[in-house]
Amino acid sequence: MTVTTRFAPSPTGKLHVGNLRTALHNWMFAKKQGGRFLLRIDDTDAERSEEAFVEAIRADLAWLGLNPDGEERQSARFDRYEARFEELKAAGRVYPAYETAQELELRRKVLLGRGLPPVYDRAALALTDADRAKLEAEGIRPHWRFRLDHDAMIEWDDLVRGPQRFDPKTMSDPVVRRADGSWLYLLPSVIDDIDMAITHVVRGEDHVSNTATQLQMFAALGAAAPRFAHEALLTGVEGKLSKRLGSLGIEHFREIGIEPQALIALLARLGTSDPVEPLADSAPLIESFDFARFGRAPARFDEEELAQLGARIVHQLDYAAVKGRLPAGMTEAGWAAIRPNLSTIAEAADWWSVVEGPVTASIAEEDRPFLGQAAEVAATLDWSNPWPALTGALKESTGRKGRALFLPLRLALTGREHGPDMAALLPLIGKDAALERLGSA
Ligand code: GLU
Repeated sequence: MTVTTRFAPSPTGKLHVGNLRTALHNWMFAKKQGGRFLLRIDDTDAERSEEAFVEAIRADLAWLGLNPDGEERQSARFDRYEARFEELKAAGRVYPAYETAQELELRRKVLLGRGLPPVYDRAALALTDADRAKLEAEGIRPHWRFRLDHDAMIEWDDLVRGPQRFDPKTMSDPVVRRADGSWLYLLPSVIDDIDMAITHVVRGEDHVSNTATQLQMFAALGAAAPRFAHEALLTGVEGKLSKRLGSLGIEHFREIGIEPQALIALLARLGTSDPVEPLADSAPLIESFDFARFGRAPARFDEEELAQLGARIVHQLDYAAVKGRLPAGMTEAGWAAIRPNLSTIAEAADWWSVVEGPVTASIAEEDRPFLGQAAEVAATLDWSNPWPALTGALKESTGRKGRALFLPLRLALTGREHGPDMAALLPLIGKDAALERLGSA
């Protein structure tokens, strides 16, 4: 049996870090098992689903390299849902109910007021054919509930949460279809998981009670259920997943220049007992992926941690890997010199413009004679390793040292007070430009 996972977003918005984490874990688990990873677009809600979001989801996954082995769409499968629904109807596992939302709400409040769990009382199951005919003659269209089997205790061994047990008598028969015929998420998802031979459902723990009812749907449809892994949710630094993170699309991270691999390295390990490491390659992350290492406590997502991880990953990237994203003309030596100073690859352009010049520097009056001297010394230097040669000679001839020696030179040569190692930068600036910059300071 090929391990098959699926990531099933609803295209009603952009992917945020929480969604991405779910996608990543589905992808990693499938990779580790040599299995398949499917993208399932949950677009049964025609009103709220948008094609632009479908495209954005695909683009985000592609940017991260989480390439699906197949794509499915719920909106293309309505006939299939209809057919399986008819089977459940014939078997008495779905039944029509006619209560309005207000009626249900009122009953809920009464139960809660009496200190009882707000479980649906199955009043609709007691209706006779004549009752139903009367209601329908009044123009009332039913919604449909799945009838839980009260005699079958619901149990599963969750890959993250361990043994789970739900008593169906304490649960409401879930509504699976609205009065207008549209589908709620629960039943189509089960029909898809069966048809697409999904072996593992990996999703957030907000779905645990859905799973309890869905397990009975698998059974009612005559199928074995997949394994389930329900992960603790992600929170922001300040507690639950903040509005900001919840609404920030993945493209935000792309725009601020975060490496996709930084998101992968962080989200692969966050909430597990393994350390978050700046791994530029996914193979070791996939290798160590194991649901048993996931904790039950919410995992804390910190944008600052992501940025730092991103920088540490940039520092490992080879020229060949980044070449296409560097400013035109930037050489391998240029990348090697500048790379340690970068937080993002985009910042390379700024430092490369320092190499290429022109640069402007505001030089203190008292440093001008020193820089004039520096220009003369530089002109006579053997340029094979110019920075130690230049500073060594100037130290000797002027008695300057430390900051007084290095800072005016750096300023005149780069226009900046800080930056990449001058020993690496000066050969890139080159002799002619260096003489010009020192001389005109
Ligand atoms: N569309 C559902 C959601 O985004 C899918 C849940 C699942 O993975 O089954 O919550």
